[in-house]
Amino acid sequence: MVERTLSIIKPDAVERNLDIDIKSFFKKNGLKILKSKKVKISREEASEFYKVHQTKPFYNELCNYLSSGPIIVMILEGENAIAKNRQLMGATDPLKAEDGTLRKMYGISIDKNSVHGSDSMENSKIEIDFFFK
Ligand code: UDP
Ligand code: MG
Repeated sequence: MVERTLSIIKPDAVERNLDIDIKSFFKKNGLKILKSKKVKISREEASEFYKVHQTKPFYNELCNYLSSGPIIVMILEGENAIAKNRQLMGATDPLKAEDGTLRKMYGISIDKNSVHGSDSMENSKIEIDFFFK
């Protein structure tokens, strides 16, 4: 099924000018970039975006981090786009990510792991609306 998902190029990757490489990786792997924009979100917006993690020990740092610099938010579209994007990203911790995945190639650490991707159909809708409505 053709799906849409939200992808974010996080501050550590934008800072290192990896956006072109990451975008071409998605395109090469069958995901079309329907929309893309560079934004800088506030601490409050970041805490809203990541509110599913509000009880986690890393929540505070995570919100500080996502609002620390420019990010690139994209709508990706393609066959099984949600799962495919997660597969292309690799495991949350770059040390555990498989070879050939974005986080393996570019991630610095479990917090500075270069990319975000929606994890379900429900969340993809919520996250796309968050940035593109
Ligand atoms: N995160 C972190 N420490 C952890 C787990 C997660 O800093 O121990 C950060 C990391 O940036 C991750 C984000 O919180 O991408 C959201 O966590 P989640 O478990 O949803 O991972 P993801 O869906 O991004 O793979
Ligand atoms: Mg997640």
